[in-house]
Amino acid sequence: MRLSLGGHDVVVVDDHDQILPTFTPSIWRDLLANFKQRYQYFEELCNVEYVMPIYNHGPEAAASIKHPHAQIFSSSIVPNSIARETVYTSRYFSENKSCPFCELILHEKEQNTRVLFENDSFISFNFYAARFPFETWILPKRHESHYKTITTRGENDLIDIMRSTFNCFEKVLKNPPLNFYIHSSPATHSNEKLPYYHWHIEILPRLSNYGGYELGSNIIIDVITPEQAADFLRIGIRT
Ligand SMILES: [Zn+2]
Ligand SMILES: [Zn+2]
Repeated sequence: MRLSLGGHDVVVVDDHDQILPTFTPSIWRDLLANFKQRYQYFEELCNVEYVMPIYNHGPEAAASIKHPHAQIFSSSIVPNSIARETVYTSRYFSENKSCPFCELILHEKEQNTRVLFENDSFISFNFYAARFPFETWILPKRHESHYKTITTRGENDLIDIMRSTFNCFEKVLKNPPLNFYIHSSPATHSNEKLPYYHWHIEILPRLSNYGGYELGSNIIIDVITPEQAADFLRIGIRT
């Protein structure tokens, strides 16, 4: 057993009435710049192993206050979800000599059944193994393991794809409760580019709850396939 250390920032949006789909490019720019700065700050601290910006929207997604806000957690441990991702992606890389996330992007583009938006730097698609209906991932198209290396051009393209994705959710799902978070490389690798890890954003609309089987088995029964979810969301893109 050891003492748990860490940090917790709350990033407050000035305007009480904003929701994710109404965030202006300027709000997104400030938010993303804040994430980048705090990655840089926390990863310099000797006790920090992992940094994770998150956003909760709506009581069903555990947002404890209504005022729009993001949070940034830094911890002295690597969370299990990240440990699993890094273990299995590094194993995949050593067996196949390629990043599984880069391959996922190629696969999604080829299949084109789950892709929602794409610009020069980013792609968003419904995740093929969704844990919740409409689970959407956003990845940089070029291999980058650390969020903090994002360029100004990359930030502009990320703002574009975040706004398109949340606008689409708003049109089709009508202000759904949701969580999103950034998965980036652990702080212990903060100064090296990992060939097997590819930072990404996971967005989880919270329109359904887990039952006993999901909780007992960790096997998720989807009520809608990711392909059907993408078709449904594409109606919002066309209108
Ligand atoms: Zn990659
Ligand atoms: Zn992830």
